[in-house]
Amino acid sequence: MAAATGSERARKTLAYLRRHITTGTWPVGSRIPIEPELAEQIGVGRSTVREAVRSLASIGMLETLPGRGTFVRSAAPTSTLLNQFLNDFTLEEILSYRRALEIEAAQQASIHRSEEDLAALEQAIRDEQGCTRCPVLLSGAEATAFDSRFHRLLFDSAKNRLLAALYAGTNDQLRSPAHRGRLANVASAKEVELDHKRILDAIRRRDFIDTVHAMADHVDHDVVIVNDQHEAVPALARSPEQQQRIDVVREAGEQRLTSV
Ligand SMILES: [Zn+2]
Repeated sequence: MAAATGSERARKTLAYLRRHITTGTWPVGSRIPIEPELAEQIGVGRSTVREAVRSLASIGMLETLPGRGTFVRSAAPTSTLLNQFLNDFTLEEILSYRRALEIEAAQQASIHRSEEDLAALEQAIRDEQGCTRCPVLLSGAEATAFDSRFHRLLFDSAKNRLLAALYAGTNDQLRSPAHRGRLANVASAKEVELDHKRILDAIRRRDFIDTVHAMADHVDHDVVIVNDQHEAVPALARSPEQQQRIDVVREAGEQRLTSV
């Protein structure tokens, strides 16, 4: 079964490179080791390494500059195809799609999370304390901060690479100049922290119903569209009665946090 062994080697090589990029062992902007070194480290042939590098370059994670080496360009796959596809949709449509991804990932995370995932999420909440920009809306060099670590780890915990890739690509699209100035964070630092704690608490208890509610609530008062008068446009219009029901659930979740 030479073919199967070959694809196994290819998978192993891809996983090795990806791991070094996503964990930050090779930070964005750094040059990765040269082909023969990698081949030796991974225990595969040089052509297998070359193939894996090419594949990661095609999704925007690596870039090979002739005569200079291969550099890390992004810690997450940024598919040009996805970006081109999303170009045809309105900001409202993209944001609503992103909301769906967040809620599904949170639900999956409540089912598939490991103890290590919980520890990492907890650490992210601590590290991001005081941060109102979740996921922050910045441009230029700070743009990667768009994916708050808490949210990215949530997608890791969901153990679904497709959800994670679509999320990264969607965030990428939201950062495009076309949408600049049309999005805002409306949650305060305290609200963000409390929301994240509530989400994590539900995930820890493997309660996917609470998780879904906590995340839906969070995304609705996190990143929102602003109109020409710089007023936030809520993702979903709610009647006072509906808002009251949401508030009751939220308060129950917050009370749980203080009583634990
Ligand atoms: Zn958040």
